[in-house]
Amino acid sequence: MKKLLFVLLIILGACESQNPFPYLPYQQQNTSEVAYVKLAKSIATNSKGVIANGLNYVELEVLAFNKLDIGVPLYDSKNDIIEVQTNGKNFQLRYPFRFSTTEKGSYSFRLKPNSIPVRDVNIEITAIEPVLFRPTVLPVIFHYFNHTAKPLSNSQKDSVSNYLSKLVGWSNKDFSNLSGSIDPNASDTGIQLQMAKNDIQGAALTWAGVNFIETGGTSFQSTKDFEDYTWQNCFWPPKKYINVWVALAPYFDPKLNGFSWAYFPDFIQGSSAYPPGLYGVMLHQRSAFSSLLSHEIGHMLNLFHVFGDCTRDADECADTWSYYRTVYDDQSKFSIEKTSCSSERFISTNLMDYGPSWNNTFTLQQALLIQQTLKECSFLPTKRNGYIHGRAFEDAERPTKAMVSDKTKLVL
Ligand SMILES: [Zn+2]
Repeated sequence: MKKLLFVLLIILGACESQNPFPYLPYQQQNTSEVAYVKLAKSIATNSKGVIANGLNYVELEVLAFNKLDIGVPLYDSKNDIIEVQTNGKNFQLRYPFRFSTTEKGSYSFRLKPNSIPVRDVNIEITAIEPVLFRPTVLPVIFHYFNHTAKPLSNSQKDSVSNYLSKLVGWSNKDFSNLSGSIDPNASDTGIQLQMAKNDIQGAALTWAGVNFIETGGTSFQSTKDFEDYTWQNCFWPPKKYINVWVALAPYFDPKLNGFSWAYFPDFIQGSSAYPPGLYGVMLHQRSAFSSLLSHEIGHMLNLFHVFGDCTRDADECADTWSYYRTVYDDQSKFSIEKTSCSSERFISTNLMDYGPSWNNTFTLQQALLIQQTLKECSFLPTKRNGYIHGRAFEDAERPTKAMVSDKTKLVL
């Protein structure tokens, strides 16, 4: 036995003296030794600019490399300092390197030289002036379908109504850029949803914002059946309400099972009291999430999905990341990190993206499209359509900077 061990030791010793992988030079290098560092934008906030609202930020990071240009992942950048230069002024940015400002302009960032050599050029970031939109209040009526034979009790109605009112509150955060977005282009859209106070006749609703529909347990046989029923029984004037049908309706249609949907305002120039289709949102009862409500109302307000086939900008918004959704699905990676049509990596944050995503962001370009829709659409509860409460402020009255900074405080 002892003899065998001795032989083994000799073999091991012989192996050690030779590099078995001479074509992999890093085997012989100390890979953790930092040769140089450089500054980069963090992948989460990779963007050309940032909106100067004091809330959005761009995140920078210090990347370290060894002699062979291989990244040193465990480099500690906590003591590094970044010098920022703008309009002749200088200041320093310390870890974590998050830059936000309320002053528009060009900002130049550079790693302050320390004992480790710094490589590469400065990073330039443009801070864009925020656009302040007059708040537009849109009353929402949820038509809540009870699909069972037994009518809902008052306490059941209370809990449905409590949940839907919370849903509106969460969705309002999405529309106001208060959902914690990491996108430097995130913007307040000016939209504020509100649980409708009155029914069609003007009488106060017992449960604000909710119209309970008792189906008596009868089921719908097709999407058409459901929509015919809805059109006749619970489609309130779209010039006064945003209609949201909360139902299990799509269970009869395997293609739509579990899905929610909405209609685009294709009939922007319409002249009758009602649009030709069910202009509103069908929200599936089993997936009644606030991000889904914001997504579907986004469609109603003329926003398209951010993704497409990369032949053109899918949503015509230059400040959202476009990517090839079919390719993404085929890869089955289902990562929140995606690759844009222009091959840049980004973290998905947009509300008009499919998951996985943070789904908490509308950008400035999207907000501008929404505002255009509010101005032109014939079937939204806006001032244009005689709905005086469509805007909380008169045309002459503009939100002030103070109002914006109040909002900024809310997020902290
Ligand atoms: Zn969609």
